[in-house]
Parts: sequence; structure tokens; C-alpha cells
Amino acid sequence: MTLFILALLIIIVLFGVKNIRMQFITRPVFSFFKKLLPPLSDTEKEAMEAGDVWWEGELFRGKPNWETLHSYGKPKLTAEEQAFLDNQVMTALTMIDDYDIVQNRKDLPPELWQYFKDEGFFALIIPKQYGGKAFSAYANSTIVSKLASRSVSAAVTVMVPNSLGPGELLTHYGTQEQREHWLPKLATGEAVPCFALTGPEAGSDAGAIPDEGIVCRQEFEGEEVLGLRLNWDKRYITLAPVATVLGLAFQMRDPDKLLGDTESLGITCALIPTDHAGVIIGQRHNPLNMAFMNGTTQGEDVFIPLDWIIGGPQYAGRGWRMLVECLSAGRGISLPALATASGHTTTKTTTAYSYVRHQFGLSIGNFEGVQEAMARIIANTYQLEAARRLTTTGIDLKVKPSVVTAIAKYHMTEMSRDVLNDAMDIQSGKGIQLGPKNYLGHPYMANPISITVEGANILTRSLMIFGQGATRCHPYVLAEMETAAMEDSTAALERFDSLLLGHIGYGARNAFSALFSALTASRFNQAPVSGETQQYYKDMTRFSSALAFMTDISMLMLGGDLKRKEMLSARMGDVLSELYLGSATLKLFEDNGRQHDDLPAVRYVMATRLQNAAKALEDALRNFPNRPVAWLMRALIFPLGNHFKGATDKMAIDLVKGMSKPGPARDRITFLCPDFKDDPSGIADVEKAFVAQYGCKLIYSKIKAAQRKSVLPKKIGNQQLFKLALEAKVIDDAELAKVQEADRLRVIAINVDDFSQL
Ligand SMILES: Cc1cc2nc3c(=O)[nH]c(=O)nc-3n(C[C@H](O)[C@H](O)[C@H](O)COP(=O)(O)OP(=O)(O)OC[C@H]3O[C@@H](n4cnc5c(N)ncnc54)[C@H](O)[C@@H]3O)c2cc1C
Repeated sequence: MTLFILALLIIIVLFGVKNIRMQFITRPVFSFFKKLLPPLSDTEKEAMEAGDVWWEGELFRGKPNWETLHSYGKPKLTAEEQAFLDNQVMTALTMIDDYDIVQNRKDLPPELWQYFKDEGFFALIIPKQYGGKAFSAYANSTIVSKLASRSVSAAVTVMVPNSLGPGELLTHYGTQEQREHWLPKLATGEAVPCFALTGPEAGSDAGAIPDEGIVCRQEFEGEEVLGLRLNWDKRYITLAPVATVLGLAFQMRDPDKLLGDTESLGITCALIPTDHAGVIIGQRHNPLNMAFMNGTTQGEDVFIPLDWIIGGPQYAGRGWRMLVECLSAGRGISLPALATASGHTTTKTTTAYSYVRHQFGLSIGNFEGVQEAMARIIANTYQLEAARRLTTTGIDLKVKPSVVTAIAKYHMTEMSRDVLNDAMDIQSGKGIQLGPKNYLGHPYMANPISITVEGANILTRSLMIFGQGATRCHPYVLAEMETAAMEDSTAALERFDSLLLGHIGYGARNAFSALFSALTASRFNQAPVSGETQQYYKDMTRFSSALAFMTDISMLMLGGDLKRKEMLSARMGDVLSELYLGSATLKLFEDNGRQHDDLPAVRYVMATRLQNAAKALEDALRNFPNRPVAWLMRALIFPLGNHFKGATDKMAIDLVKGMSKPGPARDRITFLCPDFKDDPSGIADVEKAFVAQYGCKLIYSKIKAAQRKSVLPKKIGNQQLFKLALEAKVIDDAELAKVQEADRLRVIAINVDDFSQL
């Protein structure tokens, strides 16, 4: 007791008496902190500072306010957006024959290009005063998803002018003159844009592009002007082969100091008409056989006036910031839309196909092995839809949630890879044999493109999610880093002292909360709802505290090394991602009015999210370099072990059974793959057969019962069996007609294409 009181007194004096605290705690910690700071490159600093902190900030700080999540509202389409989806998008779908586009033309048909231009598909994000549609992020995502349900090539063609590129950059940063000149042309499709950043030597490390623009004087349109002499070599550029205006990123240099004292101004973006002297539009690439336009561009000593810099000369050197800022929003729309379309399409076609495809006398959807894979498809699709909605909600609230959009890009494209793999496994030969009736092959082939672009996935997971999240979302670290960079050392120490006190309190609260939640099975944590989903909120609060606690300790122990320990920081980023995805799922359940039929999906998804979060924490602890510290953290985070074991077989079976029938629950996660008349893709064939077969459920039960009683023979062709069933009065004439029609549709659905020669 004496020792305890003595220790308590020492702590009170050390922390409570300012002079003593300053001398023995704040000063040494401050100098240790300065040494610990990761050296940030300018590029990293810009990326770190770009964008806003949103809902992920709550999840990162250990005590999420769930009421805030529910206050964000539900994404909605305006009447104009809904009409566009019902009319223009549906018309465009009828004009798409993806087999013809990919295998024969290697391009969209001219009438589809024209339709996209005439109807404003390339103007979704352009403001109305310039003739654009000014649609919400949610509408933009819904349009791209629906197009992607029938053709990735068509969806990418529409998506690119509506994401990072000239339209977006001009809208945010263009001068009035530039906007008035270009935006109306882009809105009508008279100008086709592309944006060129990547080159042979700079892919992921885009800040290292070698392409240069040298400030110089040259004659232009009859007079000598100040401008840039540009040289570039770019590759992988989407729409470049058909572009009429090129957005170009390059390093701007002023060796003769014509603009001022700075020689190296940094990355700058300019707009250059592709028919301008010296611009070369090179050859096409062949991105996994997809038919959207993608190719190279070069320029040799191309002169442009300074006015062609996006935003004008005052935006010289601010290109990287512009790109990262736009990417921090756009990355949450287009690729997640493609990924969600994969989910809706695979859920729709796999639930249908596994019902109409019979082997061993049963629908293959009855076999548990198939159900296991199908449960993953359905759960991932519910998750994709939930994440699509929450992420576009944030973007439509006009925040630029850079960490959230990195999470969405990485995890949603990975889920898309998973659903396509599982669907390919289940649909087997039907998915493999290419032809007009194959709806799986092209999305399956195209998936690695989404994985690679807008921040390749390994990099996004390893470097960006946690790297940005830890500094952007932490309530103290960014301020502490700014304090460390202050020139006035007395003021810096004073500021650091107050930050440090707050930081210690924050760390202690998170450690206690993680331990208390673990010991009490999160029973006393807050939840904004009652009922079955309540516990999920409570468990997520537990992991949020554990993540915040572990982040602080990791930063303290590893400092700048944490950036290089990519496997460790990726796992901690995974915890944040799982919490984000889980919260999107719970929000979708609430937004949809707590539909009882959606509970199996919510149960499966949440069991998976919590299992993944726990596993990521465990793996991070298992690999934490300082073992005694790892044991201590483990004792606080998992004092009773890890009880998050994931979805059970029963959860998977319940989920599959509930979704293997037509109805509102299935419609809610397949509506981005709409039905329409004369759909040539093969999706309609499978869906029609499914609906017809499901409608014959009772007739099939009667026939099966008669077979069991040996009234009807087994192992006999369907058409003969139906006739015998009529003769034996097991079914009547109307039922015979119905079951014969359903069987005719089934045969069409299981058919694949064949060719006289390839
Ligand atoms: C079809 C297609 C369309 C495209 N469209 C455009 C376009 O319109 N405009 C444009 O400018 N660009 C475009 N790109 C370029 C695209 O953004 C790049 O491909 C991407 O940035 C990756 O570059 P890379 O392919 O050279 O891969 P690399 O940079 O060579 O990376 C290879 C691997 O290393 C990983 N990696 C790299 N650094 C790290 C790190 N520090 N930590 C962990 N992992 C790391 C990456 O994640 C990746 O897995 C397109 C690419 C494709 C394929």
C-alpha cells in the first residue's frame, strides 16, 4: 500500500506540476518524438494532407459515435437522375452487345458512341451552366454500375470522362476562360478527353514522372509569349487513341528563372488539344482484350503558352495536389461502381443458374459445396452495395474522404475479384465458354484492370489506408508533427505539452476501453439500435478502441519504421477497413427499413467483418517486432482469447436459401443488373428460366412424390416424364404446359455458344 501511494504521488507530481512535467516528461518526449518522426517526401506530404477526414475518423479514434453514422441520411436520386436511368441508361443497354464489342469490333459501335455523346453520358459531373448534368456521386455510380452489368468496355468509356481528368480538374481549378472554352465542348462530346500521368518509368510512383515542361519564350500565333516546351512519353492512357484534348501531367522547370527564383516548380497539369503541333497519339494497348480505348502518347518539344496550365500560371507546380485531391473523391465512385456491378450480376446469375442447372438429380444450388461459395457471393454483394452507398453518401456531402475512398477502392475491387472467382467456379463451363451468351467471361478477364488502376491494390493497402489514416484521423499526431516543425522552440514546447497531456489521456482511455470491452464481451458499449444487430455495434466499438490503442503503441515503438513495415501497417489498415465496411452494412440494413429478409446477409457479413478484424489484429500482434510489448498489448486486447470465428455453415445455408428465390430481398442486391426486353447477353435467358422453374416448384414436388411412390419412373428424360405424369393424372393439362415451357427455358439457359471456326 505504501509503495502504491508513493507511486501515485510521484505520478501526480510528475504530471500535475507543470515545471516538473515540462522538464522531466515533455522536453525529453518532444526531442524523442522529433527523432521518431518519419521523414516525409513532398509528394507524401501532399498526399497526406489532401482530402478530408470523415466517418473513418470516428472509427479510428476508439469511440465511434454511431448516431453520427445514422445521421448521414440515405442516398437518393433526383427525379432527373431517375429519369436518366429509366430512359437513357436502359436505351444504352439495349444497344450493347458486349461479345460483338470485345471480340469483333474491339470498339463500341459508332451509334453507341454517338448516343453517349448526344445524351450527355460524358457530362455527368459537368456543372449545368456549361451544359452538363451535375449529377450526384450516387447517380454517377448507379449509371456506371448498370452499364457495367452488360459491358465493362462501355462502362469504362463512360466512367473515364466522369472521373479524374480534364472535366473534373477544370470544374475545380480551371480559370473562367478555360471553363467556358472546354466544358461545353466536353459536355456535348465534341471534345473527348483523356488524362496522361503514367509513363514507362513512373507507375505507382507517379510523383516521379520524368516528363518535363521547360519555361521559355517562343513565338505563338504571331507573337512572342512566355510558355512551356514540353517533352513526354506516356503509356496506359485510357481514351488517348480517340482523345481530342489531352490533360497532361509533367514536371515544370524554370532553369532560366523567367518566372521567379524557383527552378523546379513541381508537377503541373495542362490541357493540350491533340491536333496541336508536336502532339503524338501513339498506338493502342490491348488491356486484357477489353475494347475501351487505351494507348500511348508522346510529345517532342511541344510549345504551349502558360495559359494552358489548368488554373492558369498561378497553378504552376500545384498539379500533384490537384490530382490527389480529385482522386480522393473520384476513387470512391467509378471503380467501386464496377465492383458493385460484378456483385449484382454474379448474385443474379449464380442464384438463377444454380437453380436451373441440375446434376445428380438435383439443382446444384442444393449442394452444400456450392452453397458455401454462393453464400460468399451474396454476402459480398450485400457488402458491396452497402459500401457503394455509404461512400457516395460521403462524397455527396461534399467531403473528400481520402482514407474512405482508398478503403472502398481496395476492398471493393478485391471483393469483385472474389465474387467473380466464386461465380466462375459455380457456373463452371457456362462461365468459361465465350460467346454472345457468356456474361461472366469478360468481367472475369477485366477484373485485374480495376485492381491496378487509380492506386494499385497492394500499394493502396500497404501504404495508403493506414499510412494516411493514422496521421489524418488521429486526434493528436498531425498537430504534434506540425508542432515539431515549428521554428519557435519555446512556443513549440508549450504547445506540445498540452497535446501530450491530451494524447496520454486518449491512449489510456483506449487501452482501458479495449480491455474492459474484452472482459465484458462489449456488453456495456453504446449501440444506437436494439435487436439483433445491437451487438455488432458494440463489438465494433471494442475493435475501434483496440485499433486506436495499438496504433499509438506502434507509432511510439516504431516511429518512421512503421512506414516501411508495410505488412504490419497493412494489417492495422485492414482493421480500420473492416470497421468501415461493417458500419456501411449496418447502415444499409437501417436505411432499407430493417428488412427481416436481409438479416441472413447482415449476419454473414458482420460475422465475417468481425472475424477479419480480429484476425488482422492477431496477426499484427503475432508479427509485432518488440515481443514483450506485443504480449502486453495482447493481454489487453485479447485477455480471454479471440472468439470471433466467422460465419457458421448454418448462416451460409440460411443466406443461400433466402436468396435462391425471386423476391424483394434478391431484387435489393441485383437491381444494378436490370432486366430488359431482347437482352442479348444471356443474363435474360438464365433469369427467365429461373423464374419459370421456380413457378413450377409445386408441380415438381408432385412429380417427385409420385416418383418416390414408384407411380412414375426415375432416371428418364424430362419431356417423357411430364407426359407420363399427365397420363398418371399426377399433373393436369395446364401444369403440363407450364412445366414444358419452364423446361424449354432451362435448356436454353444451360446452353453455351459454339462456332464453326474461331
Ligand atoms: C487499363 C489501364 C488503364 C489506365 N488508365 C490510365 C490513364 O487513363 N491515365 C494514367 O495516367 N494512367 C493510367 N493507367 C495507369 C495506372 O494508374 C498504373 O498502371 C498504376 O498506377 C500502376 O502502375 P504500374 O502498372 O506501372 O505498376 P507498378 O508501379 O510497376 O507497380 C507494380 C506493383 O508494385 C506495387 N507497388 C509499387 N510500389 C509499392 C509500394 N511502395 N508498396 C507496396 N507495393 C508497391 C504495386 O501495388 C503493384 O502491385 C492505366 C493502367 C491500366 C492498366
